[in-house]
Amino acid sequence: KMNALPPRRSFKVILLGDSGVGKSSLFARFNGDSFTEATFATLVQVGSCRRTFRFGDREVTLELWDTAGTERMLSLTENYYHHAAAAIFIYDVNDQATFLGVQSTWVPSIRRRDPTMTTFLVGNKTDLASSSYAFENVTLDEAKRYENSIQDDLKVAGNFQVSVKTEEGVHELFETVAEALCGVV
Ligand code: GDP
Repeated sequence: KMNALPPRRSFKVILLGDSGVGKSSLFARFNGDSFTEATFATLVQVGSCRRTFRFGDREVTLELWDTAGTERMLSLTENYYHHAAAAIFIYDVNDQATFLGVQSTWVPSIRRRDPTMTTFLVGNKTDLASSSYAFENVTLDEAKRYENSIQDDLKVAGNFQVSVKTEEGVHELFETVAEALCGVV
């Protein structure tokens, strides 16, 4: 006799952000790989990878997709966005231009296609943020002000600053995405 299976669902999650902000590095962390300073982004194919999270009797599988450098040609395919349940916007906290990129390119790309999508704002490379050019860092306050300014147009379910290099905040980010998608919180 079969036991009742707990609810189990799988969600596609896409990474969006300017070149160099750390999308491939975050993807590698998700995949269980260690951090590397080298970048092979343009050499690999657009890829996806799955991980399952458990909350009580619920299981949720995230299928994370990485652009693998194709955003450089500003030619992300419709296939990349197709059926995505969530989008993670990534910027470099040390580089205001990449935060502007989120606002001018990546957020509009979702609002245009599917404004009901669950989204997350993620500033990466906090390990570099105390350096001499810290005055121009993107602060979490700044990111939250931006979140408030778009909340009528887009569902932002989390706002994080992380370091993929030191792993600070990375696990919490993925857990929050999984929780948000399976409706635990
Ligand atoms: P992508 O173009 O968005 O996929 O960015 P990559 O993942 O290729 O990262 C670009 C560069 O930033 C690489 O040299 C990475 O090693 C580096 N990088 C990524 N995340 C971090 C981080 O948290 N801290 C530091 N210091 N460097 C990082």
